[in-house]
Amino acid sequence: MQLLEFIDTEADRKVILKAYRSLLKSCNPSLSKEDRRLVRNAFEMAAEAHKQMRRKSGEPYILHPIAVAKIVAVEMGLGPTAIICALLHDTVEDTEITIDDIKFSFGAKVAEIIDGLTKISSVFDLKSSFQAENFRKLLLTLARDVRVILIKIADRLHNMRTMDSMPRHKQLKIASETMYLYAPLAHRLGLYAVKSELEDLSMKYTERDMYKDIAHKLQQTKRDRTRYINEFIKPINDELIRQGFTARIFGRPKSIFSIYNKMKKKDVAFEEVYDLFAIRIVVDSPPQKEKADCWQVYSLVTDYYQPNPQRLRDWISTPKANGYESLHTTVMGPKGRWVEIQIRTERMDEVAERGYAAHWKYKEGSQDIGLDGWLRRIRELLKNPESNALDFMDDFKLNLFSKEIYVFTPNGDLKILPVDATALDFAYEIHTDIGNHCIGAKVNHKLVPISYQLANGDQVEIITSKKQRPNEDWLNFVITSRARSKIKHAVKEIRRKIALQGKEMLERKFKTLKVDFTHENLHELVGFFQAESTLDLYFKIANKKINLTEIRALKGPNRDIVLPEDKIKPLEQQIDVDKVKHTIKQNEELLIFGESSKKLNYQFAKCCNPIPGDDVFGFITVNGAIKIHRTNCPNAISLMSNYGYRVVKARWTKAEKLAFLTGLKITGLDDVGVMNRITNVISGELKLNIRSISISSTDGIFHGDFMVYVNNTAELERLIDRLKGLKGINAVARFDVEDNS
Ligand code: MN
Repeated sequence: MQLLEFIDTEADRKVILKAYRSLLKSCNPSLSKEDRRLVRNAFEMAAEAHKQMRRKSGEPYILHPIAVAKIVAVEMGLGPTAIICALLHDTVEDTEITIDDIKFSFGAKVAEIIDGLTKISSVFDLKSSFQAENFRKLLLTLARDVRVILIKIADRLHNMRTMDSMPRHKQLKIASETMYLYAPLAHRLGLYAVKSELEDLSMKYTERDMYKDIAHKLQQTKRDRTRYINEFIKPINDELIRQGFTARIFGRPKSIFSIYNKMKKKDVAFEEVYDLFAIRIVVDSPPQKEKADCWQVYSLVTDYYQPNPQRLRDWISTPKANGYESLHTTVMGPKGRWVEIQIRTERMDEVAERGYAAHWKYKEGSQDIGLDGWLRRIRELLKNPESNALDFMDDFKLNLFSKEIYVFTPNGDLKILPVDATALDFAYEIHTDIGNHCIGAKVNHKLVPISYQLANGDQVEIITSKKQRPNEDWLNFVITSRARSKIKHAVKEIRRKIALQGKEMLERKFKTLKVDFTHENLHELVGFFQAESTLDLYFKIANKKINLTEIRALKGPNRDIVLPEDKIKPLEQQIDVDKVKHTIKQNEELLIFGESSKKLNYQFAKCCNPIPGDDVFGFITVNGAIKIHRTNCPNAISLMSNYGYRVVKARWTKAEKLAFLTGLKITGLDDVGVMNRITNVISGELKLNIRSISISSTDGIFHGDFMVYVNNTAELERLIDRLKGLKGINAVARFDVEDNS
């Protein structure tokens, strides 16, 4: 029987087989005969199931699962089970194959993983919290098998690598989601290479111009950089050999995204970012000599180059929670440039590059508190049935992005908490009861309030009282997801008790009005008072936020409760996404200043002040209006990934003559003429209106925030170019502002 006889054309068969052979070649050669048979079965099953399907690019669909399997094998170092699952990952979702079929052919383990990977397609378009729900399901399975999440990340990575043929609005949604969910997750699991690539790919779609610009400049400066790195490395390499080390030493370029972040954070131009690369020294060390060798290399490097004493990071003595170990330092290189150096062993390097899988491989004999601790915390979060999916994701995201501090119990036990964690976070970390009854703490033997922010190395003793009760204000300063969810839970319990009193009050009121205590009547009241739920309604009644005398009765044909007519406010309009979308659909996308905009009510978002020419999208608000955001607006990422179905494509048509407010940050040397020159260009030459100017000056450097009205991006760019050309001006950059008018 010929392999893939069910594939129609010879050309397709060839392409598919070529990809499959390349996958096999890259698998671990130690794959047993039985494993090979199973991998082949999975491949054939998937290839047949997907045989009628093509990707957007036109190629046979099966090339995608094969590519995902290859990422899983090569870039994550996972074994046959994961490879089989990656090959089958889209079958249950997109084809006739069922979980039972998979269980029958490949056993319970593979079926369990595929089940975790299968999305609930019906929920996809209907629910706002689809992403969060799906994510939650994912993590629940992760609690049993981390491969679900690793394959999911590989799936996303391949989709991001091949997104060019997608329509623009889908690219934006997928890219935002990647930045919001998958990159932090990859980071948390220690997959540094994957994380950087995901970030770069996201940026490629959400910030196209900036991405191209930095990539281009990196390419232009590559020769100079290589020469510098070689000059830097030479003496160290010679010395490593002289001292008998087996080591690799090389320069690593930083990712485009991290360079961009630095430019934004420090408000500098590309040319002023000095650490475009890091030097890495990887030594081949036996387990018992790892730490000593790394420090010896450190000492050797600092014999040649002066270290910056404030920039030494020792993640060998105390590894990061995701298992990362390395020694980082910054030294003064030739031509007075600071150079970052990373020193680690081959084992540490593999863990850092390939993450969890490599971690497994070396697990014996190494400390595994970090990752296990993380999985334990996730499991606890998921066990809590109270937590709303979206809340949960925000909480989770908080944890993913935070850096950590190390603090100690009075007995000297180490606890890892995020930066800015408070005494109360610490209390909840120890035990829920300790958190709920916490009234203060002793930090390094000094009495402090529960909101006190802990610092690295603090020793913390919690003081409790039986009378203490959690309250909502606590949420203002705790930052761990554990503390947040425990407090929310406790507060909800207390609210529930109060609501019960409100319910009894309302029941009595209904009785005196001789109105039935029915679901319909309650619903009527919930709508009228704009309560979130009946529980919320009861709560507001108990708290006297709702006045019971406003409720009167009347026997009508359809309802038997009536609200004072003069007080009836229009109920908040339901979001009619379909209606809005329908209006737009005829025009494909929302044309700002165009046909569709006459029928639809849109506004420009104040968080990012879009101006004609910016890359933008529309977002349907709760009132059914549309807000126009820039695609690189900080809010956009969260909007697009959480409420993708409310996003509409938007494009500028030729703009009417209308001025848009935008902000410019200008820095330069503070001299007498500088203000004059700036205002001359803005209002004199380009005839633009200035709304406000705020200026400060420190040590001879001048900082100015100018709010200017412009018509479009072309005009803005011309203005920026002109300003940059002025004498004494160092940098000019656009910034986003809340419009306070
Ligand atoms: Mn897929």
